[in-house]
Amino acid sequence: MKQGKDRIITLPNKHLRQKSKKVGIINDDTKQLIDDMITSVIDWDASRDHEVTVALAAIQIDVLLNVIIVRDDFEHGSPAEYTALINPVITKYEGDIELDYEGCLSIKSVYGLVPRHSKVRIKATSVDGKEIKMKATGFLARVLQHEVDHTKGKLFVDHIKGDENSFYELTSDGKLEKLDYQEKIKDSKILW
Ligand SMILES: [Zn+2]
Repeated sequence: MKQGKDRIITLPNKHLRQKSKKVGIINDDTKQLIDDMITSVIDWDASRDHEVTVALAAIQIDVLLNVIIVRDDFEHGSPAEYTALINPVITKYEGDIELDYEGCLSIKSVYGLVPRHSKVRIKATSVDGKEIKMKATGFLARVLQHEVDHTKGKLFVDHIKGDENSFYELTSDGKLEKLDYQEKIKDSKILW
């Protein structure tokens, strides 16, 4: 079996388009899955200079279960610690629609300027089986919407499909540069 960052699947892998299954009983397998997810993102981060992983959904390591992990502290360089949310559901979308850049470990090289709600309420279960209710705003709200999308088989590119001005790539020196939609995105065999 693949280990670390090599477990992360990317488009055009069709598994990313499937809906994750609800976790029934939280057991050692669930804990192992969460450990594997954390190991994969830490390993991935170590291989990149300009990017830091803020969250991951289980399907991104090819496990079709409704589990996500979210980094506790988004600051680059601080020791990475993650909180697992089991069966997360967004119970309310609130606030304005805001545009910001998003990338995804499962979509190589493409970034997008994606509209998201500025506030969400989320309900989930912790690894200890306790109910978690959270209100999130700003960047965390965006991250949670992105990850819960993964559990539904949806990816950030789906929100901006057809939008010629919303696709970017990361240059080798860490800058975002607009991608030619007609040439690189529209008929991409990888993205769609
Ligand atoms: Zn993603």
